[in-house]
Amino acid sequence: MSGLLLDIFKVHCRARRQHVKTFLATHFNGQCVCVRTFQTYSSLLAARKKMATQSLTVERKSQIKEQYFDYFLILDFEATCKENEKIYPQEIIEFPVIKINAKTLQVESTFHQYVEPKVYKELTPFCTQLTGIIQDMVDGKPHLEETLQSFDKWMLDNKLLGADTKSLFVTCGDWDLKTMLPSQCSYFKIPVPKYFGQWLNIKKGFAEVTGSYPREMMGMLSSLQIPHQGRHHSGIDDCKNIGNILVELLHRGYVAKASCSNR
Ligand code: AMP
Ligand code: MG
Repeated sequence: MSGLLLDIFKVHCRARRQHVKTFLATHFNGQCVCVRTFQTYSSLLAARKKMATQSLTVERKSQIKEQYFDYFLILDFEATCKENEKIYPQEIIEFPVIKINAKTLQVESTFHQYVEPKVYKELTPFCTQLTGIIQDMVDGKPHLEETLQSFDKWMLDNKLLGADTKSLFVTCGDWDLKTMLPSQCSYFKIPVPKYFGQWLNIKKGFAEVTGSYPREMMGMLSSLQIPHQGRHHSGIDDCKNIGNILVELLHRGYVAKASCSNR
C-alpha cells in the first residue's frame, strides 16, 4: 500500500451525509488510499500520535558502537593562500574546533578564532574568495601564539586535558596537523602542544566504512547523502560538515581511532 493515509472521523462524515465510497471517489479518484475510521476524535488523535512516535523510532537503524574516546574535536584550519602559487610562510587565519560528545553525538562547545597573519598581512582576493574571510575579519585579531594559548584555556575549561578524559582530533586530510600547524610553529619558533600529536583523518574512516577512498569533503557528503551546510572553505562550516560525516559513520558502526601521528 502506498499513497495516502486517510483518517475518517465517522461522526463528521455522518453529519455531512456522505458515504465513504462516494467521498473517496470524488476526492481521491484512482489514488491508492488507506482508510482508517474512528468513532471519536480523541481516538483519531491518539492513533496519529502513536504513528508519529513509531515513525521516529524506525527513521534510522543506528548501529553505534562503544567508542575509545569521550570526545571528538573536529578541526579545520583556513590559511593564507595564492592562486596556483605556494606561499611561504603560510599562516593560519581561521582556527575552529567543535567538541562532540562521543556518547550523545551532540556538539557541546565550540572554539572559533580568526587569526591575524604576521608576514603576508594582506589577504589575496583569491584567499577571500575561497574562504569568505575578508581583511577586517583578521586585522587586529590575535596572532597564532596567543590563539594557541586561548585554545589551551578552552581545552582546560572543557575538561579535555585531564588524564581520565580521552579526546580525538578529527580533520579532513592530514594537512592541518601534519603540515600547516607544525610548519607555522616551526617558522615562528612556537612549541606545538602535545595534544595535536595525533588525529583521525576522516577520509580513512570513510574508506573503512564505505570501501572507497574519497578525494575531498564534498564527495563524502554527497556519497553519504548528507546536505552540505554553510560555505565550503569556511573553517567553522567545514568543521560542521566534517562533524556530520563523522556522526553518520558512527551511526553506520564505525569505531573511531587515530589514523596519523606526529609523536
Ligand atoms: P580547506 O580546509 O579545504 O578549506 O582548505 C584549507 C586551506 O588550504 C585554505 O584556507 C587555503 O589556504 C588552502 N587551499 C584550499 N584550496 C586551495 C586552492 N584551490 N588553492 C590554493 N589554496 C587552497
Ligand atoms: Mg576548510
